[in-house]
Amino acid sequence: NLVLFSTTMVVLLLSSIVLTQAQPRSWSAFQASKELATKLSRNPQTFPHASTDYGHIVHKTPVAIFNPSSVSDILALIHFSNSLPNPFPIAPRGKAHSVHGQAMTKDGVVLNMTNLNSSFQNGLGVLVSACDGKGPLICYADVGGGQMWIDVLHASLERGLTPLSLTDYMYATVGGTLSNAGMGGMSFRFGPQISNVLELDVITGKGDLVTCSKEQNSEAFYAALGGLGQFGVITRARIPLGPAPTRVKWLRLLYNNFTAFSRDQEHLISFSERNDIATADYVEGMLLLNQPPLDLLFYPASDHQRVTSLVTQYGIIYILELAKYYYNNSQAHVNEEVAYLLKGLNFVHTFVFERDVSYEEFVNRVYPLEQMLRSEGLWEVPHPWLNLWVPRSRISDFDEGVFKDIVLKQNITGGSFLVYPTNRRNKWDDRMTPITPDEDVFYVVDFLRVAKTFDVVDKLQVQNKQILRFCNDAGIKITEYLIGNKTHQQWVEHFGPKWKLFADRKTEFDPKKILSPGHGIFQ
Ligand code: FAD
Repeated sequence: NLVLFSTTMVVLLLSSIVLTQAQPRSWSAFQASKELATKLSRNPQTFPHASTDYGHIVHKTPVAIFNPSSVSDILALIHFSNSLPNPFPIAPRGKAHSVHGQAMTKDGVVLNMTNLNSSFQNGLGVLVSACDGKGPLICYADVGGGQMWIDVLHASLERGLTPLSLTDYMYATVGGTLSNAGMGGMSFRFGPQISNVLELDVITGKGDLVTCSKEQNSEAFYAALGGLGQFGVITRARIPLGPAPTRVKWLRLLYNNFTAFSRDQEHLISFSERNDIATADYVEGMLLLNQPPLDLLFYPASDHQRVTSLVTQYGIIYILELAKYYYNNSQAHVNEEVAYLLKGLNFVHTFVFERDVSYEEFVNRVYPLEQMLRSEGLWEVPHPWLNLWVPRSRISDFDEGVFKDIVLKQNITGGSFLVYPTNRRNKWDDRMTPITPDEDVFYVVDFLRVAKTFDVVDKLQVQNKQILRFCNDAGIKITEYLIGNKTHQQWVEHFGPKWKLFADRKTEFDPKKILSPGHGIFQ
């Protein structure tokens, strides 16, 4: 009775908040949905968690947290909001690995998608299909939107299969990365994760449950891919799978020269376009700066001193990270392929490091780092990230103006910096929601900043603004990625010529502008 009383109070509270400017509503309308009321929680222990994210910079307290146990529950919640004269906002939330409050809402309801993960009986969980042998062989997994990629990986590996395009971090949800893009070192071959979806189930902001794909309800499909949660809640995604390798040759090549580094990265990603005999399976890159702490985890302890000396000598070192997959019985062959890939590359030849790891260890490589940072109290700290896509034609200017002139010169430490090219041509469909630089190749540049204290947050945010200002002044047409907490006008500028399509889709799928208010797009 107590539970029923408190949840009833939540519904009353919600209705009173949303009805403040609207006509009074009779209580009977809410009582009809006792089922809904029992899933709305205001448990004080879960509130702080729902009011922050991995960024730990934006904080918004919702009115309640909704813990669905089926797709029908989500439908009921969205219908409930739509039924009110002044609907309340709903923020779908995966693992809240956003950094700008994207999965939060003030005065609305956080929709806890991970509550659905227990079984496939409710249309959720991870179900790896038998491969369809008619026509081209297609294997896939049907995955609940709140499921983490690590769960998709594990279920797939049991059948000797794997998703084709993975991000660096496996503990984000499928709905979360598909609402952005899902970029990683495999995107140059297969495209981002949003290019690797066969079908979706989406509950639109209007409350329609739509099964969609390239062929069926394609407008909803393309809108939801990279759609920032604006058009619908992704409750199921059908993800294509390929054969899983067993082992990985994982290499890092050190460069003291950006031109050579980026030329070699672009050379490696062009292999996949040419269908060459040996194609790298993964290409990324990062900066090693002459600022403590140096990330030396990858390198044998006996090499730390000479790597540190190299960084001290040049101030900035670029690391090309490369992976080549293989099967247990093809070790000799993979060595030849790696040698072929390295032929003609211009890294500092005495600075090549190689590890031989299992496929799972490779794709889950951030996990040990997470454990280490957690043990040092450096995981749940502010992360004033800046994530950019830079057109290939201007990446050298970016290196000079940003890496060397801003980041290296200002002695503000913390975090890591990624820089790697990806193929856009043939890998992106412009009907999907995100915008990209308008070139065949663009660079992913991630300033993955970690701040131990708030005065460092301020300094890093000032530096982020300086970087954006530099790009603007130098005419470098960057695209910001993983953004949130912007003004409506900034969003209009972000989408540019695609804004009209974006706004039209919002009108079509979420006309009352209920979903994902954390971005600030329509608020
Ligand atoms: P949340 O933060 O919970 O939500 C993100 C957005 O998606 C919100 O707007 C939310 O409302 C919406 N949303 C969530 N679930 C759904 C759903 N089911 N339906 C509709 N909308 C939904 N990104 C990359 O591209 N590449 C990387 O390599 C990469 N590495 C990362 C490493 C770390 C350590 C971290 C913390 C993040 C990284 N990210 C990377 C970013 C990450 O992919 C995104 O922040 C992603 O959104 C996180 O997923 P989530 O489940 O935590 O989503």
